[in-house]
Amino acid sequence: MTGAPALRILDLTLALILLILLAPIWLLRAVLALISGSRLFDPAEMVGRDRQPFTRLSFAGPLPGRELAVLFNILSGDLAFTGPRPLTADEAATVPAQAAIRFSVRPGLFSPYQLQQRTGIAHDPESDLDRAFVERLSVRQSLGLIIRSLIAGLLGGSERPIPPVLDFFGVPIANVTMDAALDWIAERVLNKSAADTLPASNHPGASRHPSLSKEGKRLDSFSGAKALLAFVNPDCLNIAYTHDRYRTVLQQAARVLPDGIGLKIGCRMRGLGLAANVNGTDLFPRLCERAARDSFSLFLLGARPGIAELVAENMQARYPSLTIAGIQHGYFSPAEEVDLIARINASQAGVLLVAFGVPRQELWLAEHHDQLLPPVRMGVGGLFDFYSGRIPRAPLWLREIGLEWVWRLIQEPGRMWRRYLLGNPLFLYRVWKQARQEIKR
Ligand code: UDP
Repeated sequence: MTGAPALRILDLTLALILLILLAPIWLLRAVLALISGSRLFDPAEMVGRDRQPFTRLSFAGPLPGRELAVLFNILSGDLAFTGPRPLTADEAATVPAQAAIRFSVRPGLFSPYQLQQRTGIAHDPESDLDRAFVERLSVRQSLGLIIRSLIAGLLGGSERPIPPVLDFFGVPIANVTMDAALDWIAERVLNKSAADTLPASNHPGASRHPSLSKEGKRLDSFSGAKALLAFVNPDCLNIAYTHDRYRTVLQQAARVLPDGIGLKIGCRMRGLGLAANVNGTDLFPRLCERAARDSFSLFLLGARPGIAELVAENMQARYPSLTIAGIQHGYFSPAEEVDLIARINASQAGVLLVAFGVPRQELWLAEHHDQLLPPVRMGVGGLFDFYSGRIPRAPLWLREIGLEWVWRLIQEPGRMWRRYLLGNPLFLYRVWKQARQEIKR
């Protein structure tokens, strides 16, 4: 048996097992609800399968265990363990006809979109993920989604304030979504936005950033008409902690974006929310798509000989109208630099992507900032190795539970063990120290 009937049997079996195993707890919780609030449930009206209304149950009162009541929704068939997120009537009214496939199945306690939100990688529209879920309906998919959601749940927790700028060790990081990051790049390339303004009033460490004036205007050399963009993960921030020049370059960059689950955990430790994990690897295909659409071109600089060529081929196959304005591997001599910069400038590329690794790429971009013409330049680390196919990227299920770094560690243990096995705990320790200082202040 496959598809919907098999899923219903899975749901009934799991819900019954949980109700029996947790009977003492939910009975106690039900009694407490009655005693404290003189009612059993807090009902919420939602829209379910075939747009039928249903009442989502939670035990009344603020005590923990409210959500246990949802098992009765699953037993009654209003909800499934997995499926598109249940919507309110207002939300359901705005679902366009082409996304209506979501209503062909029961809404789920765990949804594919909410899973990716937990790890900050929900960059695609919710309707795309829901459609893919419905089209692949199976017990295996549902079990996988339940397990991954439970693991990712450890990273989620309650809603936290999302400040527009995060401060990690004195580095200001733009707390934005993937779409906002892409808009920002495209605006700079297409020269739509002259000033580069960060909201300093909300900036947790504005006074410590020499690159920000009181109004949040950038006062530095790596932004404005020619903008340096950097991605930082815990390893980068560990380097910035002790590497003064690299830290200064990041402080003076037009924009720094948060890369990886480490920053999500770091935010959580400080009681803050991360808008999204805007890493270069997820941004790159979207940037190619935007460049093809908005008619600006990319220059690929870095990685071993032959690698950037493969990236260009792969991306042009995916986005036929994409222009790769130039290519150069990252093992050139200092004597070749003048010619290389002339070639980059002559290419009229809108975005220069530099893959030399951290901090070499950012330092190189800062050193040649004035000589280079592309309006946006960014350091992208090992990105070309992934998109050339030289190093396979972690499968989505690993990324959904925040373990892409384990994949990289397994692939290159000799090079990566220091970065992850020593670097991750060191980063968390430093974040903990920063959080303590913030509490004392
Ligand atoms: N690289 C380069 N020139 C150099 C040293 C390194 O082009 O002189 C390239 C290297 O081939 C690789 C990238 O820089 O493609 C660094 O990858 P890594 O995974 O170390 O980057 P990160 O972890 O910083 O993202």
